[in-house]
Amino acid sequence: MNGNVCVIGLGLIGGSLSMAIKHEHPEVNIIGYDRDDNNAHLAKILGIIDEMTPSIEMGVQEADLIILAVPVNETERIIAELANMNLKQDCIVTDAGSTKGSVTKAAKKLLDMGITFIGGHPMAGSHKSGAGAAKLQLFENAFYLLTPTEEILDADINRLKIWLKGTKANFLLVTPENHDLLTGVISHFPHIIASGLVKQAEHYSERNPLVSRLAAGGFRDITRIASSSPEMWRDILLHNKTVLIELMDNWIDEMVQVKDLIAAADRVGIYQFFQEAKEFRDELP
Ligand code: NAD
Repeated sequence: MNGNVCVIGLGLIGGSLSMAIKHEHPEVNIIGYDRDDNNAHLAKILGIIDEMTPSIEMGVQEADLIILAVPVNETERIIAELANMNLKQDCIVTDAGSTKGSVTKAAKKLLDMGITFIGGHPMAGSHKSGAGAAKLQLFENAFYLLTPTEEILDADINRLKIWLKGTKANFLLVTPENHDLLTGVISHFPHIIASGLVKQAEHYSERNPLVSRLAAGGFRDITRIASSSPEMWRDILLHNKTVLIELMDNWIDEMVQVKDLIAAADRVGIYQFFQEAKEFRDELP
């Protein structure tokens, strides 16, 4: 492919997507915008983008592909702005956000103007941020969820997949609603639990300093994700509220059951709790 790609938000995800697109389509011109000037300059110096644009409006004018890789709140705001800008009629707009319900609603304005919006979520990342953390291979073999709404043409979905081919990710199409349920179960809710475990350890460490010293190995492994950006995770929770409240209710019920099993010293019940979890865990790919 050749043409112009405008990447808005040149952090870990936007930077890594730019690198993957440039690698697969060397002819393409990648125009980057970041509200943090220093980060945009870094992206240019590192060769992640070909040119910087002083404003979103100037950057998107000639774009064949527009990628929004900013926090989800900002994505909604920028989509509303794009709806008032001059875009090429056949350009594709996509995002990289971790939730899809509200962004898809916001994108209705673009669809009404005949502009194709296809939500996207590359399911790889890290707790690092900024252009300096971007990596060409970040998405290799990871799932990349695409959440086109009904009116989106197959040809446009394929065009987006070709643009993103250099990610070497596995694309999966899901509805925006299913996306938010799936990621709620396997990513967002576990994140709350990881942070909750760390907060519990912190609480006990105030009275018992050995807690911090001993919190190595397994504890560090299962709580690694608690080091991620609080801003990003605040937004994710607020954008996936309904799903997360339901999961939280189910979890509380489950924990009450486990508590009752322990209180009743129910050996069989406790064994069964761990055995059922082990069986499902062992079957995971
Ligand atoms: P990041 O902090 O590394 O990068 C975000 C960049 O966006 C920053 O450079 C910031 O300056 C810029 N930015 C913020 N608001 C802006 C605006 N209004 N206009 C222009 N630039 C703006 O974050 P990231 O990890 O790259 O996350 C970007 C998106 O990708 C988020 O929506 C996140 O939910 C999603 N995502 C993150 C991960 C992950 O593990 N980090 C994985 C998949 C998807």
